[in-house]
Amino acid sequence: MANQEDIFKNIISHSKEYGFIFQSSEIYDGLSAVYDYGQMGAELKKNLREYWWKAMVQMHENIVGIDAAIFMHPTTWKASGHVDAFNDPLIDNKDSKKRYRADVLIEEHVSKIEDKINKEVEKAAKRFENFDAAMYKSTNARVLEYQAQIDSINKRFKDALEANNLEEVRQIIIDCEIVCPISGTKNWTEVRQFNLMFSTSMGAVTEDSNIIYLRPETAQGIFVNFLNVQKTGRMKIPFGIAQTGKAFRNEIVARQFIFRMREFEQMEMQFFVRPGTEMEWYNYWKETRMKWHKSLGFGDENYRYHDHLKLAHYANAACDIEFSFPFGFKELEGIHSRTDFDLKAHEQHSGKKLQYFDPEINQSYVPYVVETSVGLDRLFLATLAKAYVEEKLEDGTTRVALNLPAFLAPIKVAVLPLLKKDGLPEKAREIIDLLKYDHATTFDEKDTIGKRYRRQDAIGTPFCITVDHQSLEDNTVTIRYRDTMQQERVTIDSLAKIIDDKVSFKKALQALK
Ligand code: ATP
Repeated sequence: MANQEDIFKNIISHSKEYGFIFQSSEIYDGLSAVYDYGQMGAELKKNLREYWWKAMVQMHENIVGIDAAIFMHPTTWKASGHVDAFNDPLIDNKDSKKRYRADVLIEEHVSKIEDKINKEVEKAAKRFENFDAAMYKSTNARVLEYQAQIDSINKRFKDALEANNLEEVRQIIIDCEIVCPISGTKNWTEVRQFNLMFSTSMGAVTEDSNIIYLRPETAQGIFVNFLNVQKTGRMKIPFGIAQTGKAFRNEIVARQFIFRMREFEQMEMQFFVRPGTEMEWYNYWKETRMKWHKSLGFGDENYRYHDHLKLAHYANAACDIEFSFPFGFKELEGIHSRTDFDLKAHEQHSGKKLQYFDPEINQSYVPYVVETSVGLDRLFLATLAKAYVEEKLEDGTTRVALNLPAFLAPIKVAVLPLLKKDGLPEKAREIIDLLKYDHATTFDEKDTIGKRYRRQDAIGTPFCITVDHQSLEDNTVTIRYRDTMQQERVTIDSLAKIIDDKVSFKKALQALK
C-alpha cells in the first residue's frame, strides 16, 4: 500500500494534471509558497466558499457579510498589535542554512513524544482484555514519564514566550536535542523575531508615512466597519459579520503545498456579544464549526480540537479545529474569543466611539467578540486529500477518482456523444443547453467513452450523460454515476430532476440544523 507521503505526492501531481492548482509564475520557475487555481480548482474553491457563506450568512438571520478592501489605514495594524507583535520566532541551522520556526520545531518534538504514548497504548490494548486506555495512561510508568516530559517542555515554552525570552526558546531546542532534518546537526543560530506583514507604499512618494500593509488577516476590515454595519443593518447583539478574502503573510517556512502560503484566502466571521456571555458563544461556535466540517463527509475521525496553550495578545480562550492532513493533524480553523481587545484598540487609536447601546439592559458597552477563522486553501487541501482515491477495479485496472460531495464538484454534468457524427454531438449540445443555466456542464467527444468516464472521475464529476443513436429516436440517454459507476437509461426530460436535487447545497445545509 502506498504510504501517506506517496499519496500526498500523487495528490499534488493530480491537482496539476487536471487543472486544479498550478505553481504561480511557473514559466519563471515559480514563486515560493504562492499558487494559482486552475479551471477546476477555481470552481471547487468557489463551491467551498459558497458552502461556507451559505452556512454562515444565509442560514443565520443575525449574520451579514461584507467585502472590505485589502489595503487599510496603516494605523489599523498599529491598533491591532500586528506592527509590534505579529512575529514568528525564527532559527537557522548553520550547517544546512535552512530556516525554521522555533515554535514549530518544539511543537513537532512534543508531537513525536505524543506518538510514543499512543504507540504504548496501542501495544497494551492488544495485550489486555477489557483495556481501559485512560486508566493505563494514568498508571503506566513509561507513559507517565513521557507525559512528564511533554508537560515540562510545554511549561518552559509557554513561560519563555510570555516573557519574550528567545534565548530560553533556543535553550529548549538544545535541551530537547532537536536536530535539523536536513543536516542532522544541532548547530543552531540565535532565535530572532520576524514580522510577517508585507508592506508596500501608497502614492508616488516613498516615505515612511506612506507605508501601508497588505492585510495579514481579514478580521480588521470587519472591526473597523463594526458600527457602519450595526447601524445601517440595524443589527442587535448578538450578531455576526462575515467576510471572505485574501490575506498575506511573509511566512518563514512555507512548505507543504497550499497548506502554508504567502498569499491565501480566509473565511472569517466575527460574532459580537454582550460582555460576560463570550464563553457561551465561544463554545457554541466551537461546536457549530466542527459540525460544519464534519458535514463534508470526510470522516469524523479526521477532526479534533486543539486548545491553545499560549493565548494571543487579544484572546481569553482559543482553540483550533485540526484536520488529519497527509502530513499529520494540523490546524484547519481557529476559534478565538477575542474579548473587546480589537474594538477598544480601534477606539483608542481613532478617537471614535465603537460602542453599542443595548436596549435590553439599557447600557452602552464595547462588545466582546468570538471569531471563527478558516483558511479556504487549507480547506481545499483537506477536501482534495480525502476525496482523492485510487481504487483497484474488478478488471484489474486502477481508477483515480475524486469522491467529492456532489455540491462541491467543479463540473456537475458531462455530456458525451457516443460518436462524433450522425447528429449525436448536436443532440448532446441540446442537453447542455437544457442544463447549463443551473449547473456547470461540460461537453466531451474525444477518445473512447471509457477514457472519457475516467477523465470525469478524475475531476469528481458526479454525472456523465451519454447520447447514442437511441437518444435520437426516443429522447432517452444513459446516466452514469461516478461513485457506483452504475448506468441507467432515463428520459432527457427527467434529467434536471435527477440532478438538481443531488447537487444542491440544500440537503447539506438542512443537516447542519
Ligand atoms: P498557523 O499556526 O498554522 O500559522 P495561525 O494560527 O497563524 O496558523 P490564524 O491566524 O488563526 O492562523 O488564521 C486562521 C486560519 O487561516 C488558519 O486556521 C488557517 O486555516 C489559515 N491560514 C493562516 N495562515 C495561513 C497560510 N500561511 N496559508 C494558508 N492558510 C493560512
